[in-house]
Amino acid sequence: MEKAKSTPTATTAGGTSALMATVTLAAAAGAGYLVYHNGEMWLRSLLLYLSRMRLARQVVTRFPPAWAVASRFIAGESVDEAIAATRQLNAKGMSAALDYLGESVTDAREAAAARDQILYLLHQIHESGVDAYVSVKLSQLGLKVDENLALANLRALLTEAKALGLRIRIDMEESALVDTTLDLYRRLRFGEGFDNVGVVIQSCLYRSEDDVRRLAAEGAWVRLVKGAYKEPPSVAYPQKAGVDAAFVRLAELLLSEDARQHGAQLAVATHDDAMIAAVQRYAAAHNLPKDAFEFQLLYGIRRERQEQLVAQGCRVRIYVPYGTAWYPYFMRRLAERPANLWFFVSNFFKA
Ligand SMILES: Cc1cc2nc3c(=O)[nH]c(=O)nc-3n(C[C@H](O)[C@H](O)[C@H](O)COP(=O)(O)OP(=O)(O)OC[C@H]3O[C@@H](n4cnc5c(N)ncnc54)[C@H](O)[C@@H]3O)c2cc1C
Repeated sequence: MEKAKSTPTATTAGGTSALMATVTLAAAAGAGYLVYHNGEMWLRSLLLYLSRMRLARQVVTRFPPAWAVASRFIAGESVDEAIAATRQLNAKGMSAALDYLGESVTDAREAAAARDQILYLLHQIHESGVDAYVSVKLSQLGLKVDENLALANLRALLTEAKALGLRIRIDMEESALVDTTLDLYRRLRFGEGFDNVGVVIQSCLYRSEDDVRRLAAEGAWVRLVKGAYKEPPSVAYPQKAGVDAAFVRLAELLLSEDARQHGAQLAVATHDDAMIAAVQRYAAAHNLPKDAFEFQLLYGIRRERQEQLVAQGCRVRIYVPYGTAWYPYFMRRLAERPANLWFFVSNFFKA
């Protein structure tokens, strides 16, 4: 199987690039204006909108300083770099969830290529002996092309992972994909008996409480996140307060005695001190052992906090993305933290 190619994303900036860079700068300036007048909600919406735009992707990924900023959040472009980053995390007492970047593929050939790269990753994890599992996106495996294609690709990955003693977590994408994602998960988990597959639930969605109650009763392996996609108020809490309150509620449901007795396992995936403290308070009040759940944070974000949690005796796993298709992931990280955007824009001007 072929190793992930290190395709250089920084190409020479010619006249077209200069024009595109101007367009992106105008967008960034527009973003600044929006922040000043309308606050972070608007900025987040703009960045999430740009994360799906092909033109913006071309502009950003062809511009060398963009990688300089993105590489704070991405372990590298090759499997070897991802494994090296994982070794460093393991040495600090943290596990990893490795993510071969890519999403929303448009044909079966691309989906098969992603599947093969992830198969290669599974073997590299096994051979290197690092403490890691794998995260995948169903749209990377062909969900938007054909549901059965994604199912077949995920089945191939789970089969290999099981043979190697590894687990795979299905990341959650935009709300339109939640039903199909949970359906495919259940077909593989219960219909085909794969006990090495887990899912993700987003506290921003109104539906998540029902989903969590069912998953808890099924003894699922659940990562709880706030949700990284732009969702309309018809399906998701529009304000942070609503998302945060739901996050705590859902974490408590998944940590309840009932859920744990059914075999549910919770990963609390957040950088938010208030969420971390709420979960720790619940755990202390209910005498839960430190290994009753794990905290998960993203590679390169709040590194000191990651180490503090380890020092407190908590289980910590870091989500480690790698690969050349880093643009949408990078834009979602910018949307979460405007300070990162200013760093990006200042690099843009310096270049
Ligand atoms: C391990 C992991 C896996 C994830 N998987 C998924 C998934 O499958 N599907 C999905 O939709 N989303 C996923 N997410 C993203 C998640 O939904 C949120 O978008 C993201 O975690 C930001 O929310 P937050 O909980 O950190 O809190 P926020 O309310 O966004 O932030 C709280 C505080 O955390 C700090 N912080 C947050 N983000 C950053 C940053 N980028 N840089 C620096 N500081 C920051 C800041 O201090 C901020 O004030 C995942 C997140 C993690 C940690």
